Amino acid sequence: MVQLSIKDVEGRLGEVKCAICKGNRFGIDSRTVAAGDGEWKAICLGCHYTFPVHTDMEFYLQTQPDVSYRLKEIACQSCRQRGVSLDFRAVLSVRESVYFVTCASCQLKFPEQSFLESFE
Ligand SMILES: [Zn+2]
Ligand SMILES: [Zn+2]
Repeated sequence: MVQLSIKDVEGRLGEVKCAICKGNRFGIDSRTVAAGDGEWKAICLGCHYTFPVHTDMEFYLQTQPDVSYRLKEIACQSCRQRGVSLDFRAVLSVRESVYFVTCASCQLKFPEQSFLESFE
C-alpha cells in the first residue's frame, strides 16, 4: 500500500472544490493523522469547513468489493487506458465523495467522482 504524506493529500485535494465556498485550498489536521487509524480530517482554508478523508483503502476495498471492480473500468484522462488504483477518498458532502486514483499505465494521478452514491 502507498504511504500517503500530508503534503501529497493536501496537494491533491486542490484538484477538487470545497462544497461550501468552492475554494480549493485545504489543510489536513495533523492530529487526526497521528491517531493512526487512517481517518484524516481536512479543513478548507477558505471557510474552515471540515470533511473526512479516508486513507485506509486496503480495508475499504475489502469491505466494498464492488469498488475494486469499478476501479478497473475507470479510464485514464491522459492515456485512455482502463484500470486505476485507489489512493484515498474524500467525502466532500453528503452528496459528493471523490476517489483520488492513480493510473496503472502512466501513473497519472487524478480525482474521480465516486460512483457509489449515483447508484444508490
Ligand atoms: Zn470552503
Ligand atoms: Zn494513464
